[in-house]
Amino acid sequence: MIHYDMQLQDAAKIRALVDFILMWYDEAGVRIGEADLQIRNDSEIAKPFFAPKEGNPLEADVITLKLDSCDDYATGISQLAHELTHCLIYRLNPNWKQLLAFWAEETICEAMQLVMLRELARRWRECTISTEMPYYMNYLRGCIVGQFDIPGTWRLTKCHGMREFLQIEDTATETRKDRWEEAKILSLTITAPQVVPPLLRYRDYVFEGASIFDAVRFRADHPDNLAVDYLCTLQEKALLNTFNRRT
Ligand SMILES: [Zn+2]
Repeated sequence: MIHYDMQLQDAAKIRALVDFILMWYDEAGVRIGEADLQIRNDSEIAKPFFAPKEGNPLEADVITLKLDSCDDYATGISQLAHELTHCLIYRLNPNWKQLLAFWAEETICEAMQLVMLRELARRWRECTISTEMPYYMNYLRGCIVGQFDIPGTWRLTKCHGMREFLQIEDTATETRKDRWEEAKILSLTITAPQVVPPLLRYRDYVFEGASIFDAVRFRADHPDNLAVDYLCTLQEKALLNTFNRRT
């Protein structure tokens, strides 16, 4: 059950965006389940976040958005897509203390921000809030271009060695630019909802406490999935660079 801890008027807008995202995930065969999820908005916080039930004082998983206005649907869909993806990943594999590769999870969630912004523009008329603003999709299209114009550093792709890889891992939740170009590419590999379910299960492949996953098994289980292949390639390149440096 999703609870909206905000004024009724805002809750209706945020609910419409959540319903849109969950409808898309439903087409992928991914369901959020019945466990309680509380969605709040606090424009004063540093950045939006997802806190699983075990990690917060409330009796529910919590998503806190950072929106100056709930009328800002472009920012709203981006934040919700990112945090709901964290929530889905957690609910599919709740071992959030041992089975984490932050670099991979953040890149997946950032790619989903771009995917859902794109999908909202493409299917705007299917969203219940579109009746008041039928041409808002043009603005959304501009937002996508704007997001793709923001440069990243390619640091993950160019990563030289395990030490740098672990630096990227340690700062993954704060330093988006290290992986932003990679998130853009990952979003482009997500051409249909069916591509996404294996990404949401990446934790099943993580070596306990190691920040890396079993790329051989991950790829073998999903041989035709371009998104899985790209994520595996990113990790393999970083590890290969480590090997090259040592020899
Ligand atoms: Zn995140």
